Amino acid sequence: MTRKVIVLGEIREGELRNVSFEGIAAAKTVAEGGEVVAVLLGESVGNLAPEMIQYGADRAVVVENPKLASYTPDGFSQAILAVVEQEQPDAIIFGHTALGKDLSPKVASKLGSGLISDAVAIEAAGGNVVFTRPIYSGKAFEKKIVTDGLIFASIRPNNIAPLEKDASRTGEVSSVSVEIKDLRTIIREVAKKAIQGVDLTEAKVIISGGRGVKSVEGFKPLQELADVLGGAVGASRGACDAEYCDYSLQIGQTGKVVTPDLYIACGISGAIQHLAGMSNSKVVVAINKDPEANIFKVADYGIVGDLFEVVPMLTEEIKSLLV
Ligand code: FAD
Repeated sequence: MTRKVIVLGEIREGELRNVSFEGIAAAKTVAEGGEVVAVLLGESVGNLAPEMIQYGADRAVVVENPKLASYTPDGFSQAILAVVEQEQPDAIIFGHTALGKDLSPKVASKLGSGLISDAVAIEAAGGNVVFTRPIYSGKAFEKKIVTDGLIFASIRPNNIAPLEKDASRTGEVSSVSVEIKDLRTIIREVAKKAIQGVDLTEAKVIISGGRGVKSVEGFKPLQELADVLGGAVGASRGACDAEYCDYSLQIGQTGKVVTPDLYIACGISGAIQHLAGMSNSKVVVAINKDPEANIFKVADYGIVGDLFEVVPMLTEEIKSLLV
């Protein structure tokens, strides 16, 4: 059975986020040979449509409106609902990002559909599309099949590999004009926290520090290791609560959910709330003085030792391998 699938492209600072391309790959699986339509919403975003096509979308629909310059749930839901009305898709894919988590339930309720949120894998089998998603804070996974009606899912970033970009791929780009009414939120200004380096949610390598890091200065060796590996620094809530670092670095149940290729946990005990945010990392390395620390239960590699000795040694070793 072929399906028409629409994918919401996510834009940050004038650029498409990786999750947009992962969404296209997910949509291809769901479409089972049907059509994949990329949707871009914003003030002036049509220039990004060809890139969605180069990553595998068959065509793109653009809704441009000054009221969509910044994300608001009212504005974006009106715009996407207008596209859904026009396109009549069989399936919709969003990223399970801050934006997607906010927007998808609103759109699903307006459409009267269900929502499979936070899918980490999708496969098409025997005429059904099977979504895998974590439950119980990542302790188990469930498989979901939509047997009837619209398929609506949000996908966890960094889990579904995007297709290779093909610069020669072309497709139709059309625009839909939508009158955006009754905005209950107006964004006057976006004040950004100055965070240097790689975005945690998209980082392939994360060096994370816990209360064992002991101070603001204690994060310096972690940053050095992250720089050598081209990664980002994260933290446990223990480290954030102790004011060793900013809460924007917090990983876990009440922080960010990350799925890097490599997660190095330094001085983190491995509380269940922390594991909820990182246990789906591809390779986990734990450095902890306590051989009984819970983090070793989820680690692929464990180093029992003082992080202030181990982390600089790792940095030096990796540096020597890179020259
Ligand atoms: P600790 O548990 O104090 O562990 C510090 C570790 O460092 C120890 O294992 C110790 O052996 C090791 N250590 C000390 N010195 C060194 C050294 N020199 N070298 C190597 N190892 C050393 N936590 C999160 O992380 N994220 C969340 O999103 C989150 N959400 C929560 C939500 C709720 C509702 C609740 C109740 C809690 C939440 N927590 C969260 C808190 C969580 O329960 C833990 O308290 C927290 O994760 C502990 O942080 P930690 O591992 O850094 O500190």
